[in-house]
Amino acid sequence: MEDQRQTVFIAGAGLVGSLLSLFLAKRGFAVQVLEKREDPRQSLRSEGRSINLALSHRGLRALEAADASLRQHVLDEAIPMYGRQMHDEEGHLSFQPYSSNKECIYSVSRFSLNNSLIDAAEGQGVSFLFEHHLEEADFASKTIHLIHKDKTHTLSAPVLIAADGVFSKVRTSLEKQGLCHSTLEKIDHGYKELDISAEKGVLLEPQTALHIWPRGEYMMIALPNFDKSYTGTLFLPFNEQGLSFQELNDEASVTRFFDIHFPDASVLFPDLAKQYFSNPTSFLANVFTDRWAFGEWLLIGDAAHGIVPFYGQGMNAGFEDCRLLDELLTQHYDNFEVAFQTLNNTRKKDTDAIARLAMDNFIEMRDLVADERFLLQKKIESALSKALPDQWKTLYSEVTFSDTPYSDAFARGQKNQRLMNEIMNDKSLDLTRWEEKEVWEALLKKVSDQ
Ligand SMILES: Cc1cc2nc3c(=O)[nH]c(=O)nc-3n(C[C@H](O)[C@H](O)[C@H](O)COP(=O)(O)OP(=O)(O)OC[C@H]3O[C@@H](n4cnc5c(N)ncnc54)[C@H](O)[C@@H]3O)c2cc1C
Repeated sequence: MEDQRQTVFIAGAGLVGSLLSLFLAKRGFAVQVLEKREDPRQSLRSEGRSINLALSHRGLRALEAADASLRQHVLDEAIPMYGRQMHDEEGHLSFQPYSSNKECIYSVSRFSLNNSLIDAAEGQGVSFLFEHHLEEADFASKTIHLIHKDKTHTLSAPVLIAADGVFSKVRTSLEKQGLCHSTLEKIDHGYKELDISAEKGVLLEPQTALHIWPRGEYMMIALPNFDKSYTGTLFLPFNEQGLSFQELNDEASVTRFFDIHFPDASVLFPDLAKQYFSNPTSFLANVFTDRWAFGEWLLIGDAAHGIVPFYGQGMNAGFEDCRLLDELLTQHYDNFEVAFQTLNNTRKKDTDAIARLAMDNFIEMRDLVADERFLLQKKIESALSKALPDQWKTLYSEVTFSDTPYSDAFARGQKNQRLMNEIMNDKSLDLTRWEEKEVWEALLKKVSDQ
């Protein structure tokens, strides 16, 4: 018998498209996902994309809402990270916990997560068409043009969700038709991934931390993998006089750079120059799109709002989009047009806020985490959040360990920062003795009076 359910087309079987297809299949829709790459389960590993990612509360909550056993499966292969392990230029270490009550984020493999999502979605009847490259989407006729094995096909797609990433072809088609406008803001820094093998990874302790080598204008980070290896990422300006990807252009300059600036890390990369010159240097960007909903067509995830990775929230935000959309479909009896428009109206301020926070966090990670005054402020904030849990929540904690809309977290963060500035500049408070009763009580009073 012919399948009578309405077909929803999703462009892109990345993290967001695959999770969304699972949500929609569970609602009873027939779902077809069109993906330009070959089936990732048939290839050896992800090509040119970050190898691991930080998954946190928002992403986990969405996985739970889609399928509790899938969430557990993902966690079974994840490495918890309880804080930042800082490496200074002399190789000295210091640990900064993410939370005062042992909350953590998780390092997960992009490749395994994507495959698990596709498996789970297929298990619910989703059909994935791999090696189908969406070339163009025409809103007036509600058709999409695909290339498969050098042949062009046209499909009628009354309901279409574009999860085809930062360079979304659906978005650019809609822009050409005058239906929306987007801005792609590239930043001056690019990134390059460098693998630390499991054999060397055991030297990098603890495994349950996100390692950071902050150096002001640039930095390196490393996230642990399940097999004890790490994926390092070097963030560096593209074209600056001095230290930039452009300047590090031969084996000697690369080796010297690591020996001087990341001395404890250079021993972890015995094949540094080889990796440096064979791995791609990629750029980073924020994408802002003024409209995501077009009747029964929608942009979602990075296609609507790609962000730089410094808060570890791009995927988490995309997963949260999926959960919120699923809830809106329930509220609006599966009316796509209303649910899409409501998501558009209510969510954009939040993704704008996380984009801003991600840029701010870049400065914090590469620069401030090595600054004494900043570290003192963080210690005081952490103590305040313990002493006044209802009144003082750290920004990081609200973004990473809660569902508070990003825009509310942002606004509260601004307010708290103003108050912290006052505290840090208050000459009547001797902050060198902030843990002593008298100073601490004066501090608490200042915060409680707000
Ligand atoms: C270096 C780096 C580190 C990151 N770290 C984190 C992190 O720690 N935590 C976090 O939450 N986020 C992180 N992110 C962000 C995260 O990777 C993205 O937000 C997430 O991948 C977005 O998922 P998506 O499905 O919207 O897009 P994508 O993952 O880009 O998937 C898009 C899919 O669409 C397919 N596609 C593209 N064009 C077409 C087409 N024309 N036709 C058919 N298919 C197409 C692509 O092949 C791909 O499969 C990081 C990003 C980078 C660059």
